[in-house]
Amino acid sequence: MKKGRMLYEGKAKQVFAVDDPGQALVYYKDDATAFNGEKKGVINSKGLLNNAISSLFFELLEKNGLETHFLKKIDDRSMLVKKLEIIPIEVVVRNIAAGSLAQRLGWEEGRDLGRPVVEFYYKDDALGDPLINRDHVAVLGLAAPAELDALEELGLKVNKILREYLAARNTLLVDFKLEFGRSGTSGAAGGKILLGDEISPDTCRFWDAVSREKLDKDRFRRDLGRVEEAYQEMFNRISG
Ligand code: UDP
Repeated sequence: MKKGRMLYEGKAKQVFAVDDPGQALVYYKDDATAFNGEKKGVINSKGLLNNAISSLFFELLEKNGLETHFLKKIDDRSMLVKKLEIIPIEVVVRNIAAGSLAQRLGWEEGRDLGRPVVEFYYKDDALGDPLINRDHVAVLGLAAPAELDALEELGLKVNKILREYLAARNTLLVDFKLEFGRSGTSGAAGGKILLGDEISPDTCRFWDAVSREKLDKDRFRRDLGRVEEAYQEMFNRISG
């Protein structure tokens, strides 16, 4: 497999063309950003750990019948994926109040929500990824109503699978962000919807079930120290 030209560079990943035009190579960088790019840094070995953690989670989801863009892990920092037309909606699923939801509701961080909460954010850096509802999605023409239903259903399914897997490993799944895309589409809507992007401590909040110690990117966002160690610990828990 030949690594071709770079198609896209994001804050934490690069995407390269490969021989097959229906596939792409995702390369995970050590670069870390927070607060819409205002805070920048490097987390040593993050690319390696996030590639390994994402690969494990995608394999787990596929094993449970959920289709993703993941094809295989190629090397330490790269995975081969199906090329998707990414839907510019961030699907956030939450089990415990934290981050922006704790602020919005005025709840203390750590309070159990009692049921999963699904939110949609408009993926637009210039706007700072604002929270949007179904009507906004329709007005912006981001996804058809049936597609949005599918995103919500898939988000809840991912939550159930990951939550149980992590609970068995003494870890709470507090919340996480997913991105989806259309594959094999010949136009705007209508293609099959697959889970894309990554599932890692960059995009999820993981807490130790007993101590509630944070094992995710909040250690970087909030300058808590032992950032790399937290990512490594999550890899150990998931792979063990
Ligand atoms: N998240 C993400 N990318 C974003 C925004 C949020 O991966 O651009 C993840 C974040 O890691 C957390 C969840 O989505 O697991 C909910 O984040 P929240 O809305 O609380 O925002 P934050 O407090 O991270 O700004």
